[in-house]
Amino acid sequence: MTTLSIVTPCFNEGENIERFFQEICSIKEQLPEELQLELVYVDDGSSDDTYERIYALSKKATYVKYVRFSRNFGKEAAMLAGLEAATGDYIVIIDADLQDPPSKIPEMYRLISTGKYDRIATKRIDRKGEPIIRSFFAKMFYKLINKLSDVKIVDGARDFSMMTRRMVNSILSMRERSRFTKGIFEWAGYRTYWLAFNNHERAGGTTKWSFAKLFSYSIEGIVSFSNMPLIISSVIGVVLFLFSFFLIALVIIKKIFFGDPVDGWSSLVCIILFVSGLQQMCIGVLGSYLSRVFVEAKQRPMYIIMDSNIEQENH
Ligand code: UDP
Ligand code: MG
Repeated sequence: MTTLSIVTPCFNEGENIERFFQEICSIKEQLPEELQLELVYVDDGSSDDTYERIYALSKKATYVKYVRFSRNFGKEAAMLAGLEAATGDYIVIIDADLQDPPSKIPEMYRLISTGKYDRIATKRIDRKGEPIIRSFFAKMFYKLINKLSDVKIVDGARDFSMMTRRMVNSILSMRERSRFTKGIFEWAGYRTYWLAFNNHERAGGTTKWSFAKLFSYSIEGIVSFSNMPLIISSVIGVVLFLFSFFLIALVIIKKIFFGDPVDGWSSLVCIILFVSGLQQMCIGVLGSYLSRVFVEAKQRPMYIIMDSNIEQENH
């Protein structure tokens, strides 16, 4: 029997849990009858009634599985836990806020079950309902990361995607702690089919992403998938070093032909400020790589499960 696992990270989604469940139930008819469903909810340390609602569902329907974190570990950790807990032959990751339309799942399943693809990925064709400034920075980020890194990340790509078991196994074999799923999916390879859909606004509740969170997530993406910032800082160093030879030569020539080489200390101060600023910046770049090494070296678990109705051997 073929099983489809639906993995849903939830953080303070109390308002949406039932509505989401209803939607999933309503697409069931459009899926082949012999396909078994498994819902894996990951409660990422919600402070509202998300867990109680998921728990109630799990009592109603045996195919509802849940994993509850001991605190908020972030969507990346929640997706990882969901993928680890899922047992299906096909696995789909979908948000709980109905921004990823569950109505796409039957189409995704039709495409993936042809055996031609290992991943049916989705992207938004517009950013309707999103603040303009956020869309602008998002666009800039995609441009930058695609210039810097070797994996190509599609603008507007959602985490909403259906994957085959072998692709999920490959993803689970990537044990890095700084997780940037969009890059991880691309890095894993396999054949991907892209489905596009219009942006939907969240059904209820509010987005969990503040600007600061998105910014640090972007840095995560760049540092995890590119060494370019390190290379750029080395290049800046080399260029400045060579330039200093030119300046030294200039000062010596001035001394020999025109006498006094010293004219004013303000230019000197500017140079010192400029160079020390650059140095500080490059140390910062180095530090952000080093801090990731530090996090990896600590070998802490990526999340802690407080409650679950899944057999222990799965995690
Ligand atoms: N989410 C999560 N942990 C977090 C933040 C978000 O599990 O720390 C979940 C959230 O419940 C939702 C999905 O990730 O199902 C996407 O979050 P959100 O809708 O806030 O992001 P957006 O759609 O605005 O990018
Ligand atoms: Mg959302």
